[in-house]
Amino acid sequence: MDNQTFLQQQFQISPDVVKLIQEHEIKLAPVFEEFQKVAEYNQYKVLAAFQKEKISTRHFKPTTGYGYDSEGRDALGGVFKHIFGAQAAIVSPLLASGTHTISVALFGLLRPNDAFLCITGKPYDTLLGVIGAHSETPPDGSLRDFGIEYLEVPLLPGGKFDIPAICKTLKQHTNIKVIYAQRSRGYEFRPSISIDQLKDVIEKIRPAAHNIPIIVDNCYCEFCSELEPTQVGAQLIMGSLIKNPGGGLAPTGGYIAGDEDLISKISHRLTAANLGLEIGSYAASYTPFFQGIFLASHVTCQALKGAALFSSVLENRGFEVFPTWSDLRPDITQSICFGREEPMVQFIQGIQQASPVDSHVTPYGWDMPGYDDPVIMAAGTFVDGASIELSADGPIRPPYIAYLQGGLTYEHTKLALMYALQKME
Ligand SMILES: *Cc1c(COP(=O)(O)O)cnc(C)c1O
Repeated sequence: MDNQTFLQQQFQISPDVVKLIQEHEIKLAPVFEEFQKVAEYNQYKVLAAFQKEKISTRHFKPTTGYGYDSEGRDALGGVFKHIFGAQAAIVSPLLASGTHTISVALFGLLRPNDAFLCITGKPYDTLLGVIGAHSETPPDGSLRDFGIEYLEVPLLPGGKFDIPAICKTLKQHTNIKVIYAQRSRGYEFRPSISIDQLKDVIEKIRPAAHNIPIIVDNCYCEFCSELEPTQVGAQLIMGSLIKNPGGGLAPTGGYIAGDEDLISKISHRLTAANLGLEIGSYAASYTPFFQGIFLASHVTCQALKGAALFSSVLENRGFEVFPTWSDLRPDITQSICFGREEPMVQFIQGIQQASPVDSHVTPYGWDMPGYDDPVIMAAGTFVDGASIELSADGPIRPPYIAYLQGGLTYEHTKLALMYALQKME
């Protein structure tokens, strides 16, 4: 039986939809080829890191208790350090999420009466609580609760950095101890920050910034380019292992990579002062973390291809998409603006129906911890909440934007698009 007949008999996908997607795939061939080139380069980078670190099966072994001399933990940090061209790295299953990872890094670097400056406008929703500057009273345990000041320079229209404003703020506030940039767009409708753009802003603000570390929320951006922020002048990057660098296999965790002195400071916040990276066990095997980072460049390429296909087809259906199929993709995310609640909800429900896990459940909006509006989410994932696996979500508020990302295999993502198209008809 050919694909088209199977799709029709098994999933009720009409031949017209199959044909439409084929046409878009032909148009996208040169774009896919670019993603493939980046993936190939990054795969070599990863293999070189494994070789440098002399990874052996003994590194996969679980540890219990304090985890003194845990070879797996240390070697995993070593692999990430080499890949990202950094001096040191923390890679830990003890980091419960991306937000926790970034929070640990900020608390590790900042002290009472210090300020930190975000140069990419309003940060990701879940970080607002960590910062504590956006509510009347500081939330318990937030940076503001500890007397740390927050400053922000918005991006200019079109997503460009406001270099004069950044330099002016740096001059006016001598207590700034960290400069912070977020690459991926989160729930904002703006372009994500490319490596070239980041390199350029770092060069331009460096004279005003002196030796203040520039640290980067790299969530969703790992392996989308040949270089990472730490290879173009940033002192530190942070991200989640249930996104790109976990390759779909890491069950939890986060990473922080960067300059030795910064990583050391952060390590004393991760565990305890004076203990740092000496402790931390993991009673399950480290294998999925190693295997995940090994697969990550390939999986990221699958996700990029899927995102470009969604973008191309949905733009053709009359929806505003961001980025468009031919735009640069600094991250794996795809925003689709539906304008109305109905197609957005149907779209997300269609993605869910095509999932390997929980294909039989129907998602509706719910009040998710850390988010202000009800969020609807398609997440039929093996790893709970993993967004390197195909997932789509968005706050149910005008203009009804769905944020799609991930996809471990391009083939699955393609089927999900067909489902969503049928559902929206
Ligand atoms: C995913 C993400 C985070 C962290 O989110 P968690 O859900 O806590 O893992 C932070 N910043 C950006 C831009 C992200 O995409």
